[in-house]
Amino acid sequence: MSVLSQPRFHDEAAAFAYLESMIWANGTICPHCGVVNGRIYDLAGVRGKPSKKSPEGAIRHGLKKCGECRKQFTAKVGTVFEDAKLPLHLMLQAVHLMMSSKKGISSHQLSRILEIQYNSAWFLSHRIREAMRSGDLAPFGSGGGIVEVDETFIGHDKAIKPAGEKKGRGYAHKYKVLSLIDRDTGRQRSMVVDSLKAADLTPILKANIAAEAIVMTDEASQYLSLGKHFAAHGFTRHSAGQYVDYENPSIHTNTIEGAFSIFKRGMKGVYQHCAKKHLHRYVAEFEFRYTHRVATGFDDTARATQALKGITGKRLTYARPDSQA
Ligand SMILES: [Zn+2]
Repeated sequence: MSVLSQPRFHDEAAAFAYLESMIWANGTICPHCGVVNGRIYDLAGVRGKPSKKSPEGAIRHGLKKCGECRKQFTAKVGTVFEDAKLPLHLMLQAVHLMMSSKKGISSHQLSRILEIQYNSAWFLSHRIREAMRSGDLAPFGSGGGIVEVDETFIGHDKAIKPAGEKKGRGYAHKYKVLSLIDRDTGRQRSMVVDSLKAADLTPILKANIAAEAIVMTDEASQYLSLGKHFAAHGFTRHSAGQYVDYENPSIHTNTIEGAFSIFKRGMKGVYQHCAKKHLHRYVAEFEFRYTHRVATGFDDTARATQALKGITGKRLTYARPDSQA
């Protein structure tokens, strides 16, 4: 039996039951008045306005009423799915597809598989990326662990070099992504940055890495003064063809380079174009899959479940996909 034959992927009532079990694991919360496990009633059999598609009005699955504030809600309220018109069971399919595709899945492909409009697929995939965005601010390498730091370049920042202008061979016109991997926990944290100058990077690194950590980088000049901010700083000399220090084999950034290679293959092969204002969400998508990979104990279903846990407290506020990717 295929994973996608589970009832929550086909049956709207089962989809709501699944979502509710996920976000209300510690009790039903009324999103209007905030009461937990108050007098909350299921409103079964309520129908929406009649339409051409359903002349009797579509059943409003998952509808509840709060006995404290008298307002109605479903589990979608206050989540990234709140304003989504698509059936929840299809959105759960999309979450599973995104979580099980190592290099991501394009909105075109999502639209073909789910048989929904391209615009709907584009919105949906950005809603899911928003759910994957981690609010975790705890510094990496606490307890004195090793943290790898590296940067990569991607795309074409038209604010720096307008389209048509000669791009040259440098990296100056590309978007810059800074990434950290905590070797003990296996977690990755990535961010889009405007500058790679030491003066700009050092405060970011100090905010994200514990002072007692051991930091590993390459020999790029922006990293050379890191030793004074952390317990130790090891770096390799890629320019000399060296990727591991044979005197001390823990000095390398191979873990992060492996993660970057998946990110770059995905961004080039699957997503192709991406505007800067959306890049942080793509970055979050790859970071999320990397952090919740098989080696850290997550199979596809566990990863999709984890992504769904992130849907609350986040809503996409922009209205139209004015710059699609
Ligand atoms: Zn209430």
